[in-house]
Amino acid sequence: MLPEQRKTVCPYCGVGCGLVATTDGKRVLKLVGDPEHPANLGRLCLKGALAAQTLVAPSRLRHALVRGADGSLVPTTPEEAVGEIATRLGRILAEHGPSAVAVYLSGQLTTEAQYLGNKLGKGFLRTNHVDSNSRLCMASAAAGMTLSLGADGPPLTFADIEEADAFVFIGSNAADCHPVAFDRVQRRMKTSGARAIVVDPRRTKTAAQGTMHLAVRPGTDIALLNGWLRLCVEMGAIDEAFIAAHTEGWDELRGMLDEYEPARVAAICGISEGEIRASAEIIAKTERLISFWTMGVNQTTLGTFTTNTIINLHLATGRIGKPGAGPFSLTGQPNAMGGRDMGYMSHGLPGQRKVLDEAHRAEVEALWGLPAGSIGEAPGHDAVAMFEAMERGEIRAIWIIGTNPAASMPNLPVVRRGLERAELVIVQDAFYPTETTRFAHVVLPGALNLEQEGTFTNSDRTISLLERVAEPPGDARPDWQWVRDVARAMGFGASFDFDAAGDIFREMAMMTRGRPNDQTGVDYEILRAEGPQRWPHPHAGAPRALHEGHVFATPSGKAQFFARPYVPPEEQPDARYPLVLTTGRVEAHWHTRTKTGTVERLNRIDPAPYLAMNPEDARELGLAEGARVLVKSRRGEAKTVVRVTRDIGPGVVFMPMHWNDLWEVGASVNEVTTSETDPLSKEPALKRCAVSVERL
Ligand code: SF4
Repeated sequence: MLPEQRKTVCPYCGVGCGLVATTDGKRVLKLVGDPEHPANLGRLCLKGALAAQTLVAPSRLRHALVRGADGSLVPTTPEEAVGEIATRLGRILAEHGPSAVAVYLSGQLTTEAQYLGNKLGKGFLRTNHVDSNSRLCMASAAAGMTLSLGADGPPLTFADIEEADAFVFIGSNAADCHPVAFDRVQRRMKTSGARAIVVDPRRTKTAAQGTMHLAVRPGTDIALLNGWLRLCVEMGAIDEAFIAAHTEGWDELRGMLDEYEPARVAAICGISEGEIRASAEIIAKTERLISFWTMGVNQTTLGTFTTNTIINLHLATGRIGKPGAGPFSLTGQPNAMGGRDMGYMSHGLPGQRKVLDEAHRAEVEALWGLPAGSIGEAPGHDAVAMFEAMERGEIRAIWIIGTNPAASMPNLPVVRRGLERAELVIVQDAFYPTETTRFAHVVLPGALNLEQEGTFTNSDRTISLLERVAEPPGDARPDWQWVRDVARAMGFGASFDFDAAGDIFREMAMMTRGRPNDQTGVDYEILRAEGPQRWPHPHAGAPRALHEGHVFATPSGKAQFFARPYVPPEEQPDARYPLVLTTGRVEAHWHTRTKTGTVERLNRIDPAPYLAMNPEDARELGLAEGARVLVKSRRGEAKTVVRVTRDIGPGVVFMPMHWNDLWEVGASVNEVTTSETDPLSKEPALKRCAVSVERL
């Protein structure tokens, strides 16, 4: 085939940058940013620009593997692997019932694969133990936005950045984690004098480039947000007309704010009263304000409450539903939004429906052609509870698709014991080995997103079409095809009669009719001809805003205020574990490095794991730069190397999340992180736990 240009999407963060690939049908010859894509307007960060290098990594998995009698994984044919899975899953279902089976999905799959995995699990295997790694990522934002605004999706878009006059980054190191979005912010700052307040325990790259950095203690954002709103009231920045017309619950919240006088907030957050007042003044005096947040908020025990509190600030000041204003949740993964739209967490059903809602279950059963009562009425286990149930022997089989929980889950000792105990662990991944494939009985080779057709929905609800720009290696194939083939082998073929990803999209779109995330106006032909489309689609007016005319997707049509108090986390530092550990990403790597660890240029930028520690703490512990240390918590121990830096305050240490057992046994930060979760979203509090550090 003569080289031609096709469009696809970056496989990494939730900005969802469009790519233009020059391809000969088999290989990517050139990869550049898509100037017509609304998220990136042609820009790319280095990770995205080098994405094609991951396609040809030596660690690509080419063939299915089955664990043989001698305990090793041996290559097998796709047909034999599918047959083995169908037989063994069928046996476990027959002997132990649906609750013995779990499916664990990923925000890096196409929406078509996420939808089909969820359909097979909840509809046909009849287990609601279908969850995804969005539980570790966006569950708190999703729960918070649904409670406050009635729908899971930020009400504004990336194009609003060019209309904003101030930005808040709270729990977001966008300069490293969402670089193209942050680049748009920086340009706005340079061209219009817009200001950026960065709230982060560390002096990250984002903090260094902001107008003001508030180095709060981990897990105290909610106190600062309540304090800001109290000062907005005092400064007369409240939009009484907006509150009266479009919201409910203000009086209760207004009463609670009395407890958040600046002196108390300063004491909780560990910053000065002056910093709180100066930042509040920017917020109170800037009409066009965008607040970005991500894992620093979501991965805490107050993640949902904090999301509500960010939205409170925008509702009370009327800074929502206008150009350049609104609360903006930045999605971690490229397609977590698509999965959430299709209900791929254990409490969800397609079309942002809920398992707990009888009418929603009935609608989905009808659309899937299932008898009434087929879908279980209780939500399944969330990710943390799923592996705990496996450790207890209650879940006996798990199908893990496109994610690496033996590295990414908190409190890894529990996860490993669960995987060791399971009778059947199916791991579907594009790379081998991973920390999780060590526990697999069957391994299926998945295609990467550049090797398949499908759709991704990014942080601002934009649905983009992925064209196939390279050939998958060996027997690797799109994830949805493995799900379809197993479903067919188990006798569900009539409901899995899909020959192309576009057929699945048509069914998915139909599931959203009349829902807040209506996508019935979209299909592959439209995406091809007109480019990316944003839901809701069809829409009555301007396509940018989610809540047109300030009519919110709540039962009353009004947005909801929630009075959310600051509650200290359960796990506090003490004499045995005197330091607070926080976690996060670095610029060059992605999740557990299965992809970025194969790219030489990225490895040169961020070559190795470390523990960032303030010089004061290092001095007290007698540790110098480069010292090998053991980080201990109530759950386990991690090995790493000290990096002494003033970018982190005394009493707090930081470890990146990317390096795990394949780097060095015991290197993962998740050996020590806590599986304590946000009580509403069930998102684990990966951002904060108590540890000790000692020389190895
Ligand atoms: Fe990819 Fe995110 Fe970089 Fe865009 S900003 S190129 S989506 S990693």
